[in-house]
Amino acid sequence: MGCASSIHISDRVVYHSGKESEDSHSPQQTNTTQHQGNPASGLPLKPPSCKESGQKKIPSDSGHNRKEQQSGETTSGKTTLTEVQFGPMKLFKDPLQVLLVFAKEDSQSNGFCWACEKANYRCSMVRTPEYALECFSEKHHDLVIIDHRHSRHFDAEALCRSFRAVNSSENTVIVAVVKRPDREEASVMPLINAGFNRRYVENVNLMACYNELLQLEHGEVRAQFKLRASNAIFTALEQSQDAIEITSEDQVIQYVNPAYESIMGYQQGELVGKEIIEVPKSEKNKPDLLETINSCIRKGKEWQGIYYAKKKNGDNIQQNVKITPVIGQGGKIRHYVSINRPLNDNNKSDKSADRVQAESQTDIQSCKHKDRRKGSLDVKSITSRGSDASSQRRHSSMARIHSMTIEAPITKVINIINQAQESSPMPVAEALDRVLEILRTTELYSPQLGTKDEDPHTSDLVGGLMTDGLRRMSGNEYILATKQPHHLPSHLATPLSLNDIPPRIAQTMESEDSWDFDIFSLEAATMKRPLTFLGLKIFSRFGVCEFLNCPEATLRSWLQVIEANYHSSNSYHNSTHAADVLHATAYFLSKERVKQSLDPIDEVAALIAATVHDIDHPGRTNSFLCNAGSELAILYNDTAVLESHHAALAFQLTTRDDKSNIFKHIERNEYRSLRQAVIDMVLATEMTKHFEHVNKFVNSINKPLAALEENGGSSDEETVKSVLTSPENRILVKRMLIKCADISNPCRPLELCIEWAGRISEEYFAQTDEEKRQGLPVVMPVFDRNTCSIPKSQISFIDYFITDMFDAWDAFADLPNLMQHLDNNFKYWKGLDDRKLHTLRPPPE
Ligand code: 5GP
Ligand code: MN
Repeated sequence: MGCASSIHISDRVVYHSGKESEDSHSPQQTNTTQHQGNPASGLPLKPPSCKESGQKKIPSDSGHNRKEQQSGETTSGKTTLTEVQFGPMKLFKDPLQVLLVFAKEDSQSNGFCWACEKANYRCSMVRTPEYALECFSEKHHDLVIIDHRHSRHFDAEALCRSFRAVNSSENTVIVAVVKRPDREEASVMPLINAGFNRRYVENVNLMACYNELLQLEHGEVRAQFKLRASNAIFTALEQSQDAIEITSEDQVIQYVNPAYESIMGYQQGELVGKEIIEVPKSEKNKPDLLETINSCIRKGKEWQGIYYAKKKNGDNIQQNVKITPVIGQGGKIRHYVSINRPLNDNNKSDKSADRVQAESQTDIQSCKHKDRRKGSLDVKSITSRGSDASSQRRHSSMARIHSMTIEAPITKVINIINQAQESSPMPVAEALDRVLEILRTTELYSPQLGTKDEDPHTSDLVGGLMTDGLRRMSGNEYILATKQPHHLPSHLATPLSLNDIPPRIAQTMESEDSWDFDIFSLEAATMKRPLTFLGLKIFSRFGVCEFLNCPEATLRSWLQVIEANYHSSNSYHNSTHAADVLHATAYFLSKERVKQSLDPIDEVAALIAATVHDIDHPGRTNSFLCNAGSELAILYNDTAVLESHHAALAFQLTTRDDKSNIFKHIERNEYRSLRQAVIDMVLATEMTKHFEHVNKFVNSINKPLAALEENGGSSDEETVKSVLTSPENRILVKRMLIKCADISNPCRPLELCIEWAGRISEEYFAQTDEEKRQGLPVVMPVFDRNTCSIPKSQISFIDYFITDMFDAWDAFADLPNLMQHLDNNFKYWKGLDDRKLHTLRPPPE
């Protein structure tokens, strides 16, 4: 208790045992378990606040006393502020704050307490790592002394690491008190690695403790105090309007400030570490100017004059330059500092620079005024704490930016290119600059139609399908008629199960597993309800009811509800189109590669997505809905309006009524996965994302598979499997699958292809008619029924959207018959176009 008696430590020390902290980490709990916690001292357990042992209060007007009071001897009643010279800067240091971390009070901790008192330091003592960190975060001590002798209480090295993990401990000196080693072989390296600055070999002699503290104060602590002030100097450099460059004695660039970066067009990273002679020079200077400058500054003299510098972009800039050699250790030149100011004084940026300077001058003046009023403490907080805080903020935001690069692949790519640029010759670096510009745009996958693409069919089609109503008209009051979802048409005879399907319909569906299956015959045979019947057959073939654990009656009812919500009045986007997409989906799912890649849940999701993917389609495009200010466009913020609606309505209708809820009997997690997959696929049919989906598929699947095939034939089955079945790639396969199914019309047998072309054209014509009627912007002017060339529109559609996509899908799934049809159909449209025909078919002979 030696310590306690002389400096009233009982009021100031936080007593808390290690054992308690193992059991509980909250202060409230520790208070209730005080018995075990307080072995030797016999003192009551104190609340975990951090108090100081220093007795001397700082008088609030003590500022004027600080002058030339060197070092730690106390004059009674007054706080000693120590003046520290740092280069030309004068700093004022208040008494050392010391934190002692000792699990148990003993003669060693008492020795340090006594020494602190003698040296007039402010001292806190804590017993557990938790409180040590808590106390530190409050006081930010200059010196922390941690007991490293008894590992059973706490892990001193781990504690030191925790301190170092806190940014604000950067300038704190941390000392480990260790046992006297048996042999002098113990290395200090583990301590240094843990972040300790110094080792103190246990010595309870009071003078030994005192001398140790004095040495620390005048040595490491003082040095750290000065280093802390360099934050202010760096801030000055960073804020300067002049371009500043610092080099080593052999003229390797060590630093350029932000003004330098913005004036010269370089990034710091491009220059730091380079020799000055490596940076391109302007030819406008007199040939011997550089030599003159060098011979002057190498003698240790300052050079000042006008100098042309070359910016990164090759432009020359005339500057007033001052280069000053910095004399350091051993009286030798250690750095050169070059301060450069562009000469054209009357340019705008200079004026704004002057203004900024004028403003900051008034700031400085007002700060000075405050200083005088409030005394010395403010000076300290401005020079050290203030700049500490800003550098911490900078550090932590840098750390955040750094960790972002770990997350975002695009940022990684940009960083890699940035790095490569640093060591690349100019032409390469410039080319990479253009690459970066492209990468930084968000619409990476949307082709930009160049001026050479003058075909109005293509541009209208692309404009119509690839934008979300950007050509909106203002003040348009048009709102699509809203309607309640359709209920089941009760008067229509519906099959009770697969076995009840009328023979004529069953017969029509017999060839349903062939690509050449005629969906229009089914449309006719089912009185425009092909989706329910084909759905029953295909879902049964894939065992969907078994997977969902749902009765066939529920599936039937569900299919009916879904089909009833397609608009039979649309010429294209009706339930026949949905049945057609379902058919194509089932066909693709039976391809070997697709089967290898997808799980049963993916198959079920794909079939459901195909069935619902255009539900309640109004026969108008997204652009139209946005232009018209329709309720749906408002609801979905003009973004993927229809696709969002299809997905949302599908789930509303499904879960609204148990009778048709096919998800009723699956597990919650399975439902969530299935739901997510269905939504993702329906949203993937949105055409604004067409190129994104196709490109991702090509890059992540086609290319890796092609590379594997080239390398090892079929030898590397495992790697192929991993490409096919990774979760990310399965998503890409499913998206590609539904996209290809959705716009597979041009790959169908010619007669079917012609029928679809007629239907989509008619739907587009109807939209144009309505746009004209309503005075809305005409989204796709080529689709005017009086002037449109259907062959041309099909050629454009195939060229722009179909060819590349089906090449990629064929490379993956192997679809020779589709590609053959596509080829035939394309030739057919070309043939008509060559004959300048605008119609679906040639005129009868
Ligand atoms: P869906 O709305 O059917 O989910 O998405 C496919 C898009 O491609 C639709 O906007 C549809 O209008 C368009 N599309 C499908 N087939 C053709 C076609 O043969 N020609 C043209 N011009 N557009 C088509
Ligand atoms: Mn569709």
